[in-house]
Amino acid sequence: MSSGLNRRDEIDYSLDRRATLQALFRGAASAAEACDADPYLKRAAKHHGEQTKRDCPVCRKREIRELRYVFGDQLGQYSGRIKSISELIEMQSQYGEFRVYTVEVCLECDWNHIIYSFLLGDGKTRKPPRKVHTLEDDDIQPGNKVKSWHIHEGILREQGRR
Ligand SMILES: [Zn+2]
Repeated sequence: MSSGLNRRDEIDYSLDRRATLQALFRGAASAAEACDADPYLKRAAKHHGEQTKRDCPVCRKREIRELRYVFGDQLGQYSGRIKSISELIEMQSQYGEFRVYTVEVCLECDWNHIIYSFLLGDGKTRKPPRKVHTLEDDDIQPGNKVKSWHIHEGILREQGRR
């Protein structure tokens, strides 16, 4: 249990990540396929990502940033957004259930992959918040500019359970 987050139903994507890397190193997948962070994802990683002490598995540079995306019906318009750890700590008592996906992005070579996800929330079902206009509405168009782990959320969940 780290950083005050009450995580449950954690899914580890390291097998899938390793398979992707092995395919890349075998030549079965091209760098263009594996290292395909689009400009939006890179910008988000640069400005909102948390620095890590890990080296990139592809280019070996220490340029890995972690981004945390939240998804859930109860989040309403906030589903699909990037949140910091301190925001997540607040959100876990404000919402019944939502899933946090942690994605790693290399600023150097554009490698990106989901690494784990978990559920947060206090278990009390709530209606999504009333829609209000926020600055992020002008910035984020989920499923459009974001390389969307969102779109593939169902598939990712299944992969994590293999
Ligand atoms: Zn890299």
